[in-house]
Amino acid sequence: MPELPEVESTRRALVPDLEGQQIVCVTVARDRMVRRHENPSDFKRRLEGRKIIRLRRHGKFMMTDVGVAPDGPEFIWVTHLGMSGRIQVASPDEIRAPHTNVTVGLGSGREFRFIDPRTFGFVAAWTPEELAATSLGDLGPDALTALPRVRQLVAVLAGRSAPIKALLLDQRIVAGVGNIYADESLHRSQISPHRRGGSLSPEEVGALRSGIRASLAAGLKWGGTSLDDLAYLLPDGRAGQFTSRLRAYGREGEGCRRCSGTVRRDVIRGRSSFWCPGCQI
Ligand SMILES: [Zn+2]
Repeated sequence: MPELPEVESTRRALVPDLEGQQIVCVTVARDRMVRRHENPSDFKRRLEGRKIIRLRRHGKFMMTDVGVAPDGPEFIWVTHLGMSGRIQVASPDEIRAPHTNVTVGLGSGREFRFIDPRTFGFVAAWTPEELAATSLGDLGPDALTALPRVRQLVAVLAGRSAPIKALLLDQRIVAGVGNIYADESLHRSQISPHRRGGSLSPEEVGALRSGIRASLAAGLKWGGTSLDDLAYLLPDGRAGQFTSRLRAYGREGEGCRRCSGTVRRDVIRGRSSFWCPGCQI
């Protein structure tokens, strides 16, 4: 289940391969991958022949600035890994993995491949104005690079009756925390995922903020979370090593790493939530 650190690890690994490269040809094997375009051929038409200027990331979205216009990039190539997507840069004679749904040939002779068995991910090429009009225009500050200060977070959570778990997943509040890292952050801060957002004291919000920073940093350090399905892998094919270091996520029935409690799984607003009733209050 790709979450933010995987995207960040992916971005770091891809910068030397992509930045400065000419886009030679684009192949979309499944139109579903470009479903955010009214006309599926727009993705290909907008990228081919243009140069990749820069790779960025906002929340879970990889943003690739393409082509130079007077006021910024001509197009922003957005890549979202979804639930099962991964990226590879390879030479064309390397065997293609099944479900290689999008291929972008580069001037270097190598190719960018987007592999996505379940096709929950997508790619799009939008002008900056078009991007701002999509749901990406509503993304909150990035959890890794622009996490709001405690006072601002307290103000955002004030009066909110939704469970804090659900609010952490709301990308309009903070962008980039997914299901794994929300559970990890709450475990680190010893806060129950069921708590109403507005009930958290400033001290608890401070602990949660620290928990978000710490769990994202740990995820990045270990290359992200490759679950048993190995849907997510680093661009060079290695598996992320954070999985065995998870404190809460996926550990239902196992002993808490902090107290003598047992990790349980509850469904909160439709999402699996792993937490320890012994030490998360
Ligand atoms: Zn515990």
